[in-house]
Amino acid sequence: LDRIEKLKSLVSTHQNFPKPGVTFRNIFPILQDPSAFTDLINLIVEEIKSKPQLPDIIVGLDARGFLIAPIVALRLGIAFVPVRKAGKLPGNVEQVSYKLEYGEDTLEIETGSIKPDQNVVIVDDLIALGGTASAACRLVRKMSATILECISVIELVALNGRRKIDAPVFSVLQY
Ligand code: IMP
Repeated sequence: LDRIEKLKSLVSTHQNFPKPGVTFRNIFPILQDPSAFTDLINLIVEEIKSKPQLPDIIVGLDARGFLIAPIVALRLGIAFVPVRKAGKLPGNVEQVSYKLEYGEDTLEIETGSIKPDQNVVIVDDLIALGGTASAACRLVRKMSATILECISVIELVALNGRRKIDAPVFSVLQY
């Protein structure tokens, strides 16, 4: 079976979760299948290695980006840096706020965790409206670093979230 088809067959779909009207795509069944999980990591590592410029840092987004990003970073032999929801990181942090459907959310990164001349790839589990990835891009740019690419396991293409993201976007699975 083709790697993409195998991965897609494992993603589970949940209507009206976590709220009425929302269709939730769940990547956890992939992590329960070591061969599929290996394929997923390989596809992301192959994408990164296919580019002329390799990253210095993999930034993973809270919370499910943390399940993928450190493995990719280890495979490339480079650093992993977390972007977290407000109030979770100790010490000095940089912040950006972004609009949600209702209200606002804030992302934080440890001050000094990315140097101005470094190249960064951002990794998360899913791009919906693109607000989260777009805010993470602003946070990385605030540190004067270069974003090579924003990578997501899943992209909900009908929502056109990549339009909001000021960086090249690569998704492994499209819905
Ligand atoms: P966005 O900011 O609208 O692009 O939403 C993306 C963020 O919300 C990501 O960090 C995802 O983890 C989470 N998210 C939104 N929809 C889903 C879903 O269907 N499944 C899993 N995570 C989701």
